[in-house]
Amino acid sequence: MLDLFLPPHCPACDAMVSAPGLLCADCFRQTGFVTEPFCARCGVPFAASGLGGSDQLCPGCHAVPPVFRRARAALRYDAQGRRLILPFKHADRTEIASVLAPHMVRAGAALLREADLLVPVPLHRARLFHRRYNQAGLLASAVGRIARRPCLLDALLRRRPTASLGEKSAVERTAEVTGAFQVRPSRAGRLVGKRVLLIDDVMTSGATANACAAALLAACAVSVDVLVAARVPDPRLNE
Ligand SMILES: [Zn+2]
Ligand SMILES: [Zn+2]
Repeated sequence: MLDLFLPPHCPACDAMVSAPGLLCADCFRQTGFVTEPFCARCGVPFAASGLGGSDQLCPGCHAVPPVFRRARAALRYDAQGRRLILPFKHADRTEIASVLAPHMVRAGAALLREADLLVPVPLHRARLFHRRYNQAGLLASAVGRIARRPCLLDALLRRRPTASLGEKSAVERTAEVTGAFQVRPSRAGRLVGKRVLLIDDVMTSGATANACAAALLAACAVSVDVLVAARVPDPRLNE
């Protein structure tokens, strides 16, 4: 309630701004929006044009193509990206979803045009109980509202709590999340023949997105694209 009477503040640095949901001019300048060139498949930003070769695929997608079709991200998960994502995830700053969503809609315009249904990456119920909200679900709702696409917020289940992927290698991440997700049986019928757009807050190696995509495809979704708020740049691309 109090927010209605206070001047709006920048969600990243708390400076006053002209309208709610806007970054201040300084933070906007510092935000690393993902722009071309990036990997045509997984969306990882390239440091310079030409790095991906003629087909513009990153080395990871060349070696092991992901299960999902394409992934796109609004911002780089760098120091400035973390100033938005960390409070959104861990400090009850749920209003940041409406700051991130318009940038996700811009980055994912082509994916959204083809999407029949938005599905968020789920939390395990123990973590959901502790955090009280699924940040990916808030993003899916906010993106769906802007892009006028339906959401199926409880389509996926996280079967077991997965350990934090923070310090893990790509191989360890894949092992940790393989089989961790399943389609909720009561929702399976809603996915048949659908082009699904999976929504998450941060994408690192893509292991979580891959595991979710595998579960959705097993439930007869025809394709799975991925749209995230922030993307960890690939260290192998030497940014
Ligand atoms: Zn700011
Ligand atoms: Zn790639």
